[in-house]
Amino acid sequence: MPFFFPDAVYIEQRVLSLVHTQEILSNLQGTPVHIVSHLSEVVSKKPLPSDKILILAKQEGKFLKPCPCTKNHICCGYYFINLATNCPIGCTYCILQGYLNNPYLTVYTNLDDLFTELDETKRSFRKKFFRIGTGELTDSLILDHLTGHSRKLISYFANWHDALFELKTKTTQIQHLPEKPPPSNNIVISWSLNPARIIREEEKHAPLLEERIMAAATCLKAGYGVGFHFDPLIHYPEWEKEYKTTVKILFDQIPADKIAWISLGALRYPAKMDKIIRTNHPESSIVLGELFPGKDGKYRYFRPIREQMYRTITAYIRSLNRAVPLYLCMESQSIWSKVLSRHFSSDIFRRTNSSPSLA
Ligand code: SF4
Repeated sequence: MPFFFPDAVYIEQRVLSLVHTQEILSNLQGTPVHIVSHLSEVVSKKPLPSDKILILAKQEGKFLKPCPCTKNHICCGYYFINLATNCPIGCTYCILQGYLNNPYLTVYTNLDDLFTELDETKRSFRKKFFRIGTGELTDSLILDHLTGHSRKLISYFANWHDALFELKTKTTQIQHLPEKPPPSNNIVISWSLNPARIIREEEKHAPLLEERIMAAATCLKAGYGVGFHFDPLIHYPEWEKEYKTTVKILFDQIPADKIAWISLGALRYPAKMDKIIRTNHPESSIVLGELFPGKDGKYRYFRPIREQMYRTITAYIRSLNRAVPLYLCMESQSIWSKVLSRHFSSDIFRRTNSSPSLA
């Protein structure tokens, strides 16, 4: 997948002189630049000559937010840093299509405010263990060649030992990570994985499965913790065989005892997404599955289907390695108990690749 370079950059006047704005611009020499008073000006200016634009703006709210989780489901206590929004990879099931008022790739460049906020959080919650990542509203590494976010954040989290910092990606864009992770042993680079067929049909612009795993192997070799998310799990006739093949390909390349964690999360999306996916991706078969509204109003596969998928995949993973830490994303306590025979505990996240915990 080639690096993303925009056809034009729109910059809010109030962030123009900020160091981070200028740093990004220095990586975009020759790209037309437009100054605007507020990003809403760009969003309302339709149509733009190209959709491939980048907006540099001020984060007006909090950078650090708890994961909104989902009603009546287990919340694993994750926090995300809202540094950028949107993503050019364009997966058919991506909830950002229906989630954001601003459809353009946007980076918030008031980084001083971010680090002040992180300092305050660290000071106020001295004993609290945090899991924090940047991959909620965009792919964590998709713009790293322009922003250098990974270096800045990894160097910050190297000194916050009670936090585990995760960069979540589908890309192979690991070139801008620090060559070696800090000795703090609290940085995890993680990849979302799916069978080759799903990648081909639903994640068309993302790197292939083997390419993602190779990137993970490179990071592991450099000393980073690596994690994997089978999320969203898609139900289709050949799912069992193809997810097992995917797990096997992963374990053939990455020693299971070096994996920080594996998460499983079945496809889910807000009701309004059904129409959005049909409109934006008429060729996708995602919406043809048997999805029903759950207690939180989100569409999910019928519970027996989800349970069967979780049980089958966890049993297969356990048959290959009984110790790799596993968790379920956005599921109920009763599914946790049935599938993993235990309740949620954040203890599984405390250590990374060099000493994974039993789960
Ligand atoms: S990689 Fe993630 S953020 Fe990007 S389009 Fe796919 S699901 Fe959305």
